[in-house]
Amino acid sequence: MLDIFVVDTTGQIRVTLWDTIISSVLVDNTYTFKNLAVRNFKNETYLTSTKSTKITRSESIDDAVQFESTAAVPTTIVGAVAEVKSTQSFMCKSCTRKLPTLSKDEKYNRCPHCKMLQRTENFVSYLTATINVTSEDENDDNQTSKLTIFNTQLNNFCTLHDQEELLQDPLKMDESFLEDTFAFNHFDNIVDSFAIM
Ligand SMILES: [Zn+2]
Repeated sequence: MLDIFVVDTTGQIRVTLWDTIISSVLVDNTYTFKNLAVRNFKNETYLTSTKSTKITRSESIDDAVQFESTAAVPTTIVGAVAEVKSTQSFMCKSCTRKLPTLSKDEKYNRCPHCKMLQRTENFVSYLTATINVTSEDENDDNQTSKLTIFNTQLNNFCTLHDQEELLQDPLKMDESFLEDTFAFNHFDNIVDSFAIM
C-alpha cells in the first residue's frame, strides 16, 4: 500500500495504491489513472486503486496546481498484531438500527426497535475489530498502539484478498490478524486502510 498525492489543473487529491500497481508510478511524472474508486473518510475524499485500475504515462500538464502539503495524511504503523478482538453486531434493514442481540439459530428474528419480523439472514452483519499493534520501528517511542477498524475497512481488505467469509466469522477474523505483519494507516487510531506487509 502506498499513499501518493496527484495534482491536475483543478486541485490535488490523495490516491491509495495497492499491490503491484505501486511500482507503476514515479514522483514528478504525469499519468492517466483509469478505474479508481472514490472513498470518503473523516471528511477527506480520496481515491484508491481497484483490481481494474490502469495507470499509463501521459503528457505533462502545463498549468497544474501547486501541491500543498497541508492535507491530512494518515499515520502509518508497521507491525504485528499482539492482541485482537472482533465484535459482530447486526443491523435491521428496515429501521437501520443496531440490534442488541440476534438469535442466529432461529429462522426468524424480530427487530426490537421497529418490531418487524424478518428472516435471520435479512439482518446485516457488522464487524468491528480492536487491535493492539506492536510497532516494528525501534525509534517509535509509542511501541504499542490500540487501533479500531470498522466494517467498511475490514470489508475492503477481505474483498481485496477474496476472504469475504471472514466477515461472517469474528473468530476467524481474529486469527487472520495474528498471522501476518501489517501496515495500518490511521487517523487518531481509527484505521483508514491496511495491508499485509
Ligand atoms: Zn428494525
